[in-house]
Amino acid sequence: MKILVTGGAGYIGSVAVERLIKDGAKVVVFDNLYQGHIDAVHPDAIFIQGDLADKAAIEAAISQHKPDGIMHFASYTLVGESVQKPFLYLRDNIVNGLNLLESAVQHGVKAFILSSTANLFDDPEQIPIAETERIVPGSPYGESKHILERYLHWMDGLYGMKYACLRYFNACGATETRGEDHDPETHLIPLVLEVALGKREKIVIFGDDYDTPDGSCVRDYIHVVDLAEAHILAMKVLLDGGESRKYNLGNGRGYSNLEVVQTARKVTGHPIPHEIGPRRPGDPAILIASSETINHDLGWEPQYPALETIIKMAWNWHVAHPNGYEK
Ligand code: UDP
Repeated sequence: MKILVTGGAGYIGSVAVERLIKDGAKVVVFDNLYQGHIDAVHPDAIFIQGDLADKAAIEAAISQHKPDGIMHFASYTLVGESVQKPFLYLRDNIVNGLNLLESAVQHGVKAFILSSTANLFDDPEQIPIAETERIVPGSPYGESKHILERYLHWMDGLYGMKYACLRYFNACGATETRGEDHDPETHLIPLVLEVALGKREKIVIFGDDYDTPDGSCVRDYIHVVDLAEAHILAMKVLLDGGESRKYNLGNGRGYSNLEVVQTARKVTGHPIPHEIGPRRPGDPAILIASSETINHDLGWEPQYPALETIIKMAWNWHVAHPNGYEK
């Protein structure tokens, strides 16, 4: 299969490309390198530096390479930033996604996987969160993904392009060669590891008075390789003639912020000083997704659910790349 991966120089996208190539797929990466890293792009992938805001550029890429399927990772992805800069999300994520969708249907792309988000479920009635949960986007970021999910519904209905939307929370972990390198970094696991690397003095935990076992927030940490495999499985099913679908992806259990710090101390051997700070606005106490449906339909289950393994693999990458990819 030939797959075009938008955002294939980014964290999750680059690992998806790595696994696709390992699986024998031909891959075209389309990425503007605003947040991605050229060194993250697998050397066997065709790389096009382009911006989805440039309709002609994505149109040319699809027309030239004629992919069977598209995996769409390229996006602004930070919940907090989306509240500060809503138009970046409500305009750019959506318009860029539309440019991609229009080019895809014009050129007969058969299957589309959207890297969506569990931020569709801001106020879940049940934890773990199932696909039947009502959709209440928690931020302009979540809204932008929700709108793209809706547009995909019409792309299938009007053009027959099959799609899968995969919703998940906290991507983490690394492969031997690809890991997490954001600037600025805002995510808990890489920040904790930066303390262990000596790049930060301490980690501030945002709140310890939540209604959780240790008072800190509980999140669903899911290994980036497990996410990549889910995208590939979903793509294969669609290309084999399967119907469109939406899946929530989760680790099976959550880990608290304090557990993350404690496990990182064990893995790194560093004391990792921590401090308790105020709550971060908008943080729910517990977010865990249910993977029952994708497990039932596709047999997917996380291969790396243990927090210690996740942090160990992330740590190995950070030690080998103390300044990230290309600094
Ligand atoms: N967090 C924290 N200190 C930090 C960064 C994050 O306590 O410096 C907490 C955050 O409040 C949340 C959890 O770690 O409860 C995961 O946050 P992250 O930003 O990594 O991912 P999110 O859950 O927002 O997607």
